[in-house]
Amino acid sequence: MNRQTASVVVIGAGQAGLSVAYYLQKLGLKPGTDLIIVDRGPSTGGAWQHRWESLRLGSAHRVHDLPGMKALGVSFDTADRSLPAREVVEDYYRRYEQFYDLRVQRPVTVGAVFDRGADLVVQTSAGEITALALVNATGTWGAPFVPYYPGAWQFEGRQVHTSSYISAEEFRGKNVLVVGGGTSAIGFLLELEGVAAKMFWTSRRPIDYRDHGSLDLEDAINAVAEQDAAARAGKALPSIVSGTGVAKTRRIAAGIERGVLVARPLFERLTEDSVVWPDGSSDRIDAIIWATGFRPDIRHLSPLRLHEKAGGVVVTTGAAERDPRVFFAGYGPTASTIGANRAGRLLARQVFTALGGRRASSE
Ligand code: FAD
Repeated sequence: MNRQTASVVVIGAGQAGLSVAYYLQKLGLKPGTDLIIVDRGPSTGGAWQHRWESLRLGSAHRVHDLPGMKALGVSFDTADRSLPAREVVEDYYRRYEQFYDLRVQRPVTVGAVFDRGADLVVQTSAGEITALALVNATGTWGAPFVPYYPGAWQFEGRQVHTSSYISAEEFRGKNVLVVGGGTSAIGFLLELEGVAAKMFWTSRRPIDYRDHGSLDLEDAINAVAEQDAAARAGKALPSIVSGTGVAKTRRIAAGIERGVLVARPLFERLTEDSVVWPDGSSDRIDAIIWATGFRPDIRHLSPLRLHEKAGGVVVTTGAAERDPRVFFAGYGPTASTIGANRAGRLLARQVFTALGGRRASSE
């Protein structure tokens, strides 16, 4: 079996993992030897590489540049908005990894992490890595969330979560129910207009439109504070993007004007081919799109027993309270591109301090 040893392992090479790696390298850790970064994706781009073709950068929220990205002469702010976001991000992260020689190992999936006394042992699809500290930056894309809804198990039509949505064409001529009150749900409705035969939109909460042209997640102070409180209490984390409200971009404002973006209160139940509304009326539907968010993708950490009964992990100053060698980037209050950047800077310093001069290197 392939065995490697490192001072620090970073799991995930999305915005959060790359940002931590950048700062750790600045502090003197050498990528490929005492800093090992692994990612299960086939290519660069973090979760963006898996997002649907029609998604464009900045369609709702600002996407922040990685630290040190200026040196490459590229910026998300001036990226070509006619190109799919997944292509732009994949390209920028690829250049970034090359420029800073981060030596990300991929596709490498982490299956489990074990506590072996002084060391952490990271079991991957490419062998084992022994490390002194771990930065978990695995995001949420791999853990789609669909709440319990009465009758959902009975419904015989197609059910698709945001994470497996490909394009509106798949729903041509169909009656489609879109569930969820965030920007993904709105994006799907605007794409389905004129393609689906009928669309129905429902959300647990009324849609919280904000009168901004776009929303910077860093300005969403309440949503970030909610996340922080949940992470400190070890509670299940709400999705940060859903906590920010929906910015009324020109495209969304026009959709509201046209009457496309009218959400109904949550349905009462689903049957094998219909949605039943609270007033007892029903509509036949062929498909459901669940735009109901994500949860942190941290199943591989379960052997470490970090979870509290309340459903989450207590993360106070970047590390898990139950195991201070395990750091979280892009988790809770830092689950946005700007938050991930901030986490990178702070966590790198904390990891470095935790190492206290110890090094474990494959060289
Ligand atoms: P990710 O980009 O998800 O990266 C995690 C990486 O970890 C992936 O590359 C994955 O392959 C890897 N990984 C996961 N599990 C394992 C494992 N077990 N083993 C090995 N590797 C693993 N934020 C914004 O700031 N602006 C926006 O406009 C915006 N739009 C969004 C739109 C959508 C539809 C969604 C779902 C989210 C959006 N976000 C946006 C939030 C956004 O995803 C984050 O801000 C940021 O890109 C997440 O970075 P990350 O590094 O935490 O996670």
